[in-house]
Amino acid sequence: MEKILIEKIEKMPKIELHVHVEGATKAEVFYSLAKQNRVKLPVNTIKEWKHFFEFKDFSHFIRVYTTAVSVLKSSEDYALLIENFYKYQAKHNIIYTEAFLSASFMVERFPRDEILEAIEYGMKKGYEKYKCKINFIPDIARNIPSSQKKVLDFVIQGNKRGLFVGLGLGGMEDGYPPKLFKEVYAKARRNKLHVVAHAGEAAGAESIREAIKELKVERIGHGIRCLEDKKLVEYLRKTQMPIEVSPTSNYCLGIVNKNEKHPIRQMYDAGLFCTINSDDPEMFSTNLNKEYKLLIKQGFSYNELIQLNKNAVGASFLSNNEKLNYYKILKHYDAVDN
Ligand SMILES: [Zn+2]
Repeated sequence: MEKILIEKIEKMPKIELHVHVEGATKAEVFYSLAKQNRVKLPVNTIKEWKHFFEFKDFSHFIRVYTTAVSVLKSSEDYALLIENFYKYQAKHNIIYTEAFLSASFMVERFPRDEILEAIEYGMKKGYEKYKCKINFIPDIARNIPSSQKKVLDFVIQGNKRGLFVGLGLGGMEDGYPPKLFKEVYAKARRNKLHVVAHAGEAAGAESIREAIKELKVERIGHGIRCLEDKKLVEYLRKTQMPIEVSPTSNYCLGIVNKNEKHPIRQMYDAGLFCTINSDDPEMFSTNLNKEYKLLIKQGFSYNELIQLNKNAVGASFLSNNEKLNYYKILKHYDAVDN
């Protein structure tokens, strides 16, 4: 029974709203770029690099992330990264994606228009070859708050060229609360950008409250620690604020204890508007199909899983007409029984 369910879910075209391009790039790609760009890695062989790339703990994860990004030395490298990302999403049957780009690292190292052109080129190539639609949401690394104005300018210009749909906030939550980014977010909203933020992952429920109040975000990245605050859960239920849940990431980073069921069950049962996502799939040895599989193992039914997928359409920043098209595609996968 479980096997049939897994097969059915794998066949279902999916929508994903919380995935980082850099975290969805294979270790091999970074390795060959490092060789090509003569960047010294802390390892000597591809085997060792793959081992280094595997998740160990949070501080190692940050080290992997920054080492991987450091091998990107030209705008062409970003074009390649973007094109590869289309391939990656298409391979996992993800027909529409809203994806984060770690913009704080880009704006400090490359001229703005050069990198925008490279992204545009990568998007064009990727779409031509793999036919899946992707909208990008560059994000500010909250631990590099000095980059926020430059990132906003980058997003506004990219949005004018039709490349980006919104602004995000990622990186280390502790010590960098949402309010530090209030003005930049207000300006982003005035420029008709969609706004989202990671909150309630490493930091508690208060960070979710603050992201909503100070940044007026339209979706919450992770958000699982809302469960620490009953009133907040009630607010999220009433407003149907979309939450981008990434179970494997939470287990890897120790936000959820590996012996426990993932709190998405409680969130779903409380009537919260959840979606399911892979976050940094290559770094956490996961992918979106595996995330669904994990929920099957934890007792989610077919109907519930297709609802989570439909929720991602509803919570996306697509136009109403585009949403209707995706609902139509997903209708073929509606269940009549379980
Ligand atoms: Zn994330």
